[in-house]
Amino acid sequence: MKVNNVELTISAVSAKQYPDTGFPEIAFVGRSNVGKSSLINKLIDRKAMARTSSVPGKTQTLNFYLLEDMLYFVDVPGYGFAKVSKADRAKFAAMIEEYLTTRGQLRGAVQLVDARHAPSADDVSMYQYLKYYHVKTLVVGTKVDKTSRAKRASVIKTIKQTLDLNQTDELILFSAETGEGKAQVWKWLEQTAGI
Ligand code: GDP
Repeated sequence: MKVNNVELTISAVSAKQYPDTGFPEIAFVGRSNVGKSSLINKLIDRKAMARTSSVPGKTQTLNFYLLEDMLYFVDVPGYGFAKVSKADRAKFAAMIEEYLTTRGQLRGAVQLVDARHAPSADDVSMYQYLKYYHVKTLVVGTKVDKTSRAKRASVIKTIKQTLDLNQTDELILFSAETGEGKAQVWKWLEQTAGI
């Protein structure tokens, strides 16, 4: 999809603020610093549309980006930030649970993991969470420009094994630096959103 029009419709903290348009939605989840803003910006050909709100003390919100008046990217705050308080962790859990359990328009999730390392315990929990709620998931291994081509097969194996990836879910390696994987990610998004 060629994206000419993007707007941040709302930064929501609760369900009553979600847009009432009914367009298909794809959620983007990943631990802080994994490269989520970079992926979103690359997908929509913008330099700095998506920003993270993972810094402790900042309000954690679900950011609804409307693309071409037909599809929402829902940017979920980054998890796994060591300095986040217990109270903020609980708030995050409640916010994502409310979204996943109430949102009929949700067609799938893109979960990002850093391709340079095995998925963390938080990554595994998040994936299990998405599976528990039957959310179709694309796992994106980020920053793959930092991994040599010779190591790609073992990177793929490690991510699949650690997450215990479902047969029906896909894994794509991606780089915001080189654009590798971008076309594949868009293909999955279009198929999953049904656009
Ligand atoms: P977020 O917190 O998940 O939104 O992560 P960001 O998109 O802000 O990226 C975190 C850091 O990783 C930044 O310094 C980015 O420049 C860097 N980064 C993100 N994606 C890539 C990538 O594909 N390759 C490389 N080499 N660095 C990346």
